[in-house]
Amino acid sequence: MGWGIDMVHFVGAGPGAIDLITLRGKKLIEEADVIIYAGSLVNPQLLDYARDDCGIYDSKDLNLEEVISIIRDAEELGRNTVRLHTGDPSIYGAVREQMDILEELGIDYDVTPGVSSFCGAAAALKMEYTLPGISQSVIITRMDGRTKVPDRESVEALSSHGATMVFFLSSSEAGRLSERLINAGLSPDTPCAVVYKATWDDEKSFVCSLESLSETMESGGIKKTALIIVGQAVAQTGYERSKLYDPEFTTEYRMGTDKNAKDGQ
Ligand code: SAH
Repeated sequence: MGWGIDMVHFVGAGPGAIDLITLRGKKLIEEADVIIYAGSLVNPQLLDYARDDCGIYDSKDLNLEEVISIIRDAEELGRNTVRLHTGDPSIYGAVREQMDILEELGIDYDVTPGVSSFCGAAAALKMEYTLPGISQSVIITRMDGRTKVPDRESVEALSSHGATMVFFLSSSEAGRLSERLINAGLSPDTPCAVVYKATWDDEKSFVCSLESLSETMESGGIKKTALIIVGQAVAQTGYERSKLYDPEFTTEYRMGTDKNAKDGQ
């Protein structure tokens, strides 16, 4: 990796708590000449890891061209830039458009992953998304807003799978979300959870039903920076024990009592 030389490092800041950034991400912040961070969601305390002479910019006040122009200026001076994104950059991070311009400009970049907020939310709820016998898939999605969601990925279409669903960017319209899911055929008592500011000091979480989602969020004062999780898995009951730790099962590492029982890796 090109530590310290002039290039751009896209870094996942993690969901909030400052000790949930990766060791690599922290090192890149410590070495950065310039940091552009998403101030609407990245914990500003992460910037305490930066050098005193580091140039720091909040991207919530900037458009794409302005972000690129800061990076370009840094490159011309032989400096390295950290572009700090909330959670993991690959999830609603608007990183591709930045990367494409950097490629056009011949500016080198790499990516350091982060703990996404949907993992932070599961930790807050002490929840396993993929419970055997309940759901083996997690659908990461959002309701449409200014950014359109393709029809085939509509709330209605995705809910037909009965998988665990995690809704990003949808908390301001929880009422509409639960209405659409119920109209699409989900039972009004489908278990739901809301996690506000997962892993931050002021984290809040609620478990409710699909029907009471909007009321639960209203009474909890939650309108943004929250994830909504929908599906039977939220109840965390009624599941089957795993095959991996089943005494009968043979795995690559362990001989079980039934030699023919094997599960995929
Ligand atoms: N890349 C980020 C997501 C950015 S989109 C990630 O991997 O987590 C912004 C949305 O993420 C917010 O509207 C909210 O739905 C969710 N979000 C981000 N941080 C959160 C947190 N700490 N707790 C709950 N939701 C969060």
